[in-house]
Order: sequence, then structure tokens, then C-alpha cells
Amino acid sequence: LTLLAGLLLACLVGTLSYYLMRVRNSADHEMLEGMRRRQFHMEYQPVIDTRSQQVAGVEALMRWRHPREGNIPPDVFISYAEAQGLIVLLTRHLFGLIAQDALQLREVLPVGAKLAVNLSPSHLTDPEFEHDVQQFIGQLPPGHFNVVFEITERGMVETEDALEKFDWLRQQGIEIAIDDFGTGHSALIYLEKFRLDFLKIDRGFVTTIGRQTVTAPVLDTVLNLTRELRLKTVAEGVETPQQAHYLREHGVTYLQGYLYSRPLTPAGLKEFVTRYHP
Ligand code: C2E
Ligand code: MG
Ligand code: MG
Ligand code: MG
Repeated sequence: LTLLAGLLLACLVGTLSYYLMRVRNSADHEMLEGMRRRQFHMEYQPVIDTRSQQVAGVEALMRWRHPREGNIPPDVFISYAEAQGLIVLLTRHLFGLIAQDALQLREVLPVGAKLAVNLSPSHLTDPEFEHDVQQFIGQLPPGHFNVVFEITERGMVETEDALEKFDWLRQQGIEIAIDDFGTGHSALIYLEKFRLDFLKIDRGFVTTIGRQTVTAPVLDTVLNLTRELRLKTVAEGVETPQQAHYLREHGVTYLQGYLYSRPLTPAGLKEFVTRYHP
């Protein structure tokens, strides 16, 4: 490398990282502003009890309606917040949003209804984690909801002291679900080790039902395994009556998907519950 080329390269990289930094700073700023300006809200997707066919609870899913960009998918802004160290702030914000919705949710959901909330693994290791959780629980109507924290497989495997954190959560009466099961490391040993309450079967497996694909037998293996381990199961992304029927026949505990409902605002959920007759 000649000196000139080296200098040019250094300039280029320097300029690039300067622009990258500016882009990042402004995206961070947008996210913080978004929280301040109430651009985030929560939607709730009904979870159906396979046996009774009744609404057993909801999963809370975060939404960002940006004034210029429109709706930004949670996959995108959650990973961004994780990468930028903003996820703890964002999760605290969503705890607050759920707490604000809680009275409306209580009106339409029975006592003991599940309220599932997605947690990012990096929050588990934050020094304020226990405090944040207690604050959140304290803002919910006492004794009404059965709070479930959903954590992805990857998150569990990569989190130090996950077992201690989960034990502490269980002492607070919170259940733990492994989310998107089958898409990550699939270390079956963790099912035992973490003493999980729920396993969420990823949509990718549900879509194999009734189709001759290489991965189709995997679903049956997972279903056998969860029966053996007496884990409760939630099947995600149920879109057809055929899928629902198969999952029911194979002992899945709860069903969630567009077949029943998309994620809804609290008002939409109220409407859904009133007209839903299994
Ligand atoms: P997830 O926790 O696995 O959530 C399930 C996703 O599947 C949701 O997408 C839901 O809208 C979608 N879904 C539900 N039923 C069906 C169906 O029948 N068909 C299809 N095609 N999709 C269905 P969404 O809301 O876009 O969220 C995507 C992911 O973003 C979530 O996956 C979760 O990992 C993350 N996320 C969403 N909200 C939050 C949050 O509040 N906190 C954290 N940490 N992550 C969140
Ligand atoms: Mg989830
Ligand atoms: Mg999932
Ligand atoms: Mg997912």
C-alpha cells in the first residue's frame, strides 16, 4: 500500500464511519423522540385454549407508527434497539404502555388470563431488571393477570445466570416461555435446565402441517418431546382450520394466529371478544 493510497483509504473509512455515526445518532434520536411523542403503542393478539376454545389470554406486541416512515416492523426496531443499547429504555417504555392498557384489558379478559410480554435477553442482565419487573407488576390490577415473559431460544442460551433470573421471576409469580422454538440453537437440554413453563412452537413448523417437506417430522418430534416433559405449548402462526385441528389432536395447549385474530388494539380486542363464539 502506498502512503497516498493508505491516506485515501483512511479518509474514506473515516468519512464512512463519520456518516455511519451520524446516521446512528439520528436514529437513536428518532427512537427517543418517538417514545416522548407517543409514537409507540401495543397490540394484543388473542391466545386460544385448545380444549375450551376460549380466549386464554393475549400476547403484547409493540408497534411504532413513525410520522414520516409509517409503520416500522418490530423485528427491525427491536434489533436496532438491542444493538444500540436502547432496549432497556424501550422495554421500560412498553411496560408503561401495557400498564396504561391494563384496565381496558381487565374488562375483556377473565381472571387468570395470560398476559405474555416479549423480553430481550440483554434486559435480563441489566442491573435495574428486578426493579423494572417489580414496578411493572405493581402497576397491573392485582391478581388479575398471569404474566408470562417470552424469551427467544438464542436469548436463553446466551444469557449468563439465566437460570437464577428465571428462578427469581418464578418467585414473583411470572411464567417463562421459550419463544420461536426450533429456529435457534435448539439445545433440547435447556428445556430441562431452565425449568420452563411454555414452549412456543415457531410458525415455521406450523406451516409444514399437511405438506410433504423435509422438516415436517420435526414438528412431531417437538410435540412428543413437550408431552414427555409436560411442557405447556403455544403454537404460533396458526392460519388454517386444518393446522388448528392437527395441533389440537396432538395435544398442543394453546393456539395463536390469524385464523383467530391478528394483533389488536385494546378496543379491537374488546370487539373481538364480544363477537367471538367458538
Ligand atoms: P414473536 O414474539 O414470535 O411474535 C409473533 C409474531 O408473529 C408477531 O409479529 C405476530 O404479529 C406474528 N403472527 C401472529 N400470528 C400470525 C399468523 O397467523 N401468521 C403470520 N404470518 N404471522 C403471525 P410481529 O408483531 O411483527 O413481531 C415480530 C417479532 O418482534 C416478535 O416475534 C418479537 O420477537 C418481536 N417483538 C414484537 N414486540 C416486541 C416487544 O414488545 N418486545 C420485544 N422484545 N420484542 C418484540
Ligand atoms: Mg413472542
Ligand atoms: Mg414467536
Ligand atoms: Mg418471532
